[in-house]
Amino acid sequence: MSYVDEVLDLVVAKNPAQPEFHQATKEVLESLRVVIEANEDEYKKDALLERLVTPERVIMFRVPWVDDKGQVQVNNGFRVQFNSAIGPYKGGLRFHPSVNLGIIKFLGFEQIFKNSLTGLPIGGGKGGSDFDPKGKSDREVMAFCQSFMTELCKHIGADTDVPAGDIGVGGREIGYMYGQYKRIRNLYEGVLTGKGLTYGGSLARTEATGYGLLYLTAEMLKCNGKDIAGKTVAISGAGNVAIYAIQKAQQLGAKPVTCSDSTGWIYDPEGIDVALLKEVKEVKRARLTEYAANRPSAVYHEGKGVWTVACDIALPCATQNELNLDDAKTLVANGCFAVAEGANMPTTLEATEYFQKNGVLFCPGKASNAGGVATSALEMSQNSERLSWTFEEVDNKLQNIMVNIFHNLDDAAKRYGKEGDYVAGANIAGFEKVATAMKAQGIV
Ligand code: NDP
Repeated sequence: MSYVDEVLDLVVAKNPAQPEFHQATKEVLESLRVVIEANEDEYKKDALLERLVTPERVIMFRVPWVDDKGQVQVNNGFRVQFNSAIGPYKGGLRFHPSVNLGIIKFLGFEQIFKNSLTGLPIGGGKGGSDFDPKGKSDREVMAFCQSFMTELCKHIGADTDVPAGDIGVGGREIGYMYGQYKRIRNLYEGVLTGKGLTYGGSLARTEATGYGLLYLTAEMLKCNGKDIAGKTVAISGAGNVAIYAIQKAQQLGAKPVTCSDSTGWIYDPEGIDVALLKEVKEVKRARLTEYAANRPSAVYHEGKGVWTVACDIALPCATQNELNLDDAKTLVANGCFAVAEGANMPTTLEATEYFQKNGVLFCPGKASNAGGVATSALEMSQNSERLSWTFEEVDNKLQNIMVNIFHNLDDAAKRYGKEGDYVAGANIAGFEKVATAMKAQGIV
């Protein structure tokens, strides 16, 4: 049995009932086979893969808080500090009822390679809770965030572990958590990113993941002789990533015609009205029915269906495993030629393979959505030097980072005879730097 297969079996045996973590490790290690097999004896002796798939530290804790009726509620809190070979742990916090240890581990594992790909000195981590901010009052969200940070603050710090937002964690939640950290630790430091602009946040961080996704997609198309201008784009999600992906797609001359949330989706053949979408989602925190009610050209459908719309480019920006094999077949049949992931692991393994076999340009999230964490690292730099850069400065750096990421993964794929396989390219390029750093630091 090969070393990769041995470790994949080990992951399943040692981490029962964590299917998303199994899926993520399989996707990464399968595509690293060519690299591992070239150095198998050395990697095996050092147990490099076993160390790579085992978090350096897992913190799990109780989060008690009091709701508006005076009832005590209890949620689970998690922080997985996965790998610090190339820098302090860095990765978002997700607040969603579906959160469990396996999901946080899959996200933390992916984050190692994503952060490495940015070229910036940040290790991999992820955290969150099964708390659902939806339908909660501001006071309830604050009570939860304060309780969550009361425990988390013992384990993080500007040079140790720097969390950020993710699903369910936006500016409001980051603000409440930052306030509590400062109160308990008596430190005004860049311990969280995605902060408000009045207390150490970076311009362009809010837009970064969506904008970065489009910068990378445009570069991928350009390198394959295509232009993003004039293309029809199907986008899922209606949160932070989706909104700014839609905005940048329009600025680059493309036409995004869909968006979705967890209850339904919008088809708007005239192109999504970003200002209206922001009003509905960011200000009113309402459902997409509200968008359709205010936009005559838009049609609202219940359930899932974004991928049934004819498009040139698909950008899944909602959540994991939201694009399956049937969706991939429909997209290809309708003429879709490029897919770039805005969310983390939104495409199932079977769907990814189908795209690749059918000549669709496919960029995995760890590369195409890395603009968020890259800009978080730029926020850390600004906090360290106690300066704020202009929007243009940050946005230019973001563009350069995304273009470099694409070329790094393209080159890595070519070096291993896998031209055009951007999944392999991203995993290889991300892995090489981390593996070299781990080796240099000895058996830790
Ligand atoms: P938000 O919470 O802002 O938005 C998430 C969107 O996806 C919402 O429209 C939400 O619908 C929808 N959604 C969430 N869960 C589900 C589900 N189970 N089924 C269907 N729809 C769902 O999160 P973000 O935009 O920040 O994150 C989206 C994705 O991008 C995630 O995978 C995240 O890990 C990834 N990502 C985010 C980064 C960032 O900087 N924010 C950076 C890199 C990756 P509803 O409103 O109904 O909940």
